[in-house]
Amino acid sequence: MPKGKRRSLKGLGAKYGSTLRKRYGRVFATLKLKRKCPSCGRWNLKRKSAGIWECRSCSFTIAGRAYDFTPSKTS
Ligand SMILES: [Zn+2]
Repeated sequence: MPKGKRRSLKGLGAKYGSTLRKRYGRVFATLKLKRKCPSCGRWNLKRKSAGIWECRSCSFTIAGRAYDFTPSKTS
């Protein structure tokens, strides 16, 4: 991790305490990850709402977890 550089924690200023901000940052980073659509293969799968993921290309909708789509990742 680069020194001094902070990950984007938009929406949260100096509020809520450091532990909660770190936790929020982790969820936020997970949310922003690119996801591959299982239907058309494009990296356009976005979280529509909690547990619902939708492909921007082919409108393929799939149920997933609230803040993450894949339950386990190898990265
Ligand atoms: Zn698709």
